[in-house]
Amino acid sequence: MLPLNDPLLLKGQLFINGEWVDGDSEESISVQNPATGIEICRVASATKKDTAFSIKCAQQALQTWRQTTAKHRADLLKNWYQLIVENIDDLACILNAEQGKPLAEAKAEILYGASYIEWFAEEAKRMYGDIIPSNKAGQRLLTLKQPIGVVAAITPWNFPNAMITRKVAPALAAGCSIIVKPAEATPLSALALAELAQRAGIPKGVFSVVVGVDSKEIGRELTDNPLVKKLSFTGSTKVGKILIKQCADTVKKVSMELGGNAPFIVFEDADIDQAVQGAIASKFRNAGQTCVCANRFLVHTSVYQEFTTKFVEATRQLEVGNGIDPKVSVGPLINAAAVQDVHGKVIGALEKGAKVLLGGSPSKLGENFYPPTILADVTPDMEIFQEEIFGPVAPIIAFDTEQQALELANCTEAGLASYVYTQNYSRIWRFSENLENGIVGINEGVISTEVAPFGGTKQSGNGREGSKYGMDDYTEIKYLCMGGI
Ligand code: ADP
Repeated sequence: MLPLNDPLLLKGQLFINGEWVDGDSEESISVQNPATGIEICRVASATKKDTAFSIKCAQQALQTWRQTTAKHRADLLKNWYQLIVENIDDLACILNAEQGKPLAEAKAEILYGASYIEWFAEEAKRMYGDIIPSNKAGQRLLTLKQPIGVVAAITPWNFPNAMITRKVAPALAAGCSIIVKPAEATPLSALALAELAQRAGIPKGVFSVVVGVDSKEIGRELTDNPLVKKLSFTGSTKVGKILIKQCADTVKKVSMELGGNAPFIVFEDADIDQAVQGAIASKFRNAGQTCVCANRFLVHTSVYQEFTTKFVEATRQLEVGNGIDPKVSVGPLINAAAVQDVHGKVIGALEKGAKVLLGGSPSKLGENFYPPTILADVTPDMEIFQEEIFGPVAPIIAFDTEQQALELANCTEAGLASYVYTQNYSRIWRFSENLENGIVGINEGVISTEVAPFGGTKQSGNGREGSKYGMDDYTEIKYLCMGGI
């Protein structure tokens, strides 16, 4: 059992229409600690039938919820925020256990996740429409923003708390009801959030959580059911494309936060120590398992040696292990398949001529661990350059000119985050404007915050989460044309 102050936060059932229920499936999900392989608990498994029922209840709940005042919704969201902050130790304990990230990082994720709830509680009150000057006398034109309706959210295992709040908070703030399907590897954080939402007074059916052994079956119902008006997905580009296709038949609005392949560019005039610090923060957070992790280090030839030497030295200081130990800064990967996938990319790069500067072979700590690894002499034809790594591996590539750096940075299908280190202000503008990414970190390796828009271009998806734009994904604009005035 986990050492929780409030054991009621550990849930083994689904949360549908304000009730804790077993799924219709005979099976259940074994949730395991990736650092130890030990089962934390089993969670009931939902089927298509459970999912359809949760959608029907969300549609019913919507009728009342959408009529509530923004202030009322804001007050309930603030209650939820408070409860999350008060229960941070338990929530971080659950998150560390099911996902593996170090406890300090888990706590940071709880606060980060909660910050979206606080932010959207405030934004709920600012769902303004417009008065538009008409071209005709005797007419008045205006717009209203209204909740889109029932929302479905499918979320990944790398941020089991924050990816839920990032979608649920704007949906509830806008007056939508929402059904979340968390990843089957990490459902416990989502269920704990649902328990706290219920205690906060969020009405039944407004926020439900379904999860199951067959995510395709649940996903099918969420995408096919005509009562669902919007799908918000965070996960792989491959699954995102499937879900977009599935949503086409009922013409749902979709927002997709898909894979990245972030370039991290170090120019000859960069502050190298600052770049190394940013590189460590961006690359090794969550053991490299975030969609904005630096994926390719492009370094000007004149500072290649200095950056590489300092980066290797700083990376060597990172301690790998079970994230419950406060000394550990790099925890396990989510499972052994993830380790094999990362190692396969490293082997592929070595076969094509890359050199290992650090790490590069599976860890002795167990099948779920992979050591921080740095590869030099990487080239664009390698899979490790083209694909998202999702592990603690840093490939380094040298460049000579700004144009070359730009071409290398932009030559993938992904367009989520990018990082640029330079002290030249004209280059900062020029380069940032030409990068094909939704997010640019300039002399900064940690870019994510609830006050700024998070999202990608190209095949990294569409829609923006957080910021003043974050509610747009959950609202429809209605135009009223008033004549005869
Ligand atoms: P990752 O590579 O991070 O595991 P995935 O895209 O595979 O990302 O998974 C992200 C989320 O999508 C998880 O909740 C997973 O259960 C869900 N998922 C995966 N495949 C499907 C599918 N075909 N239909 C609906 N959901 C899916």
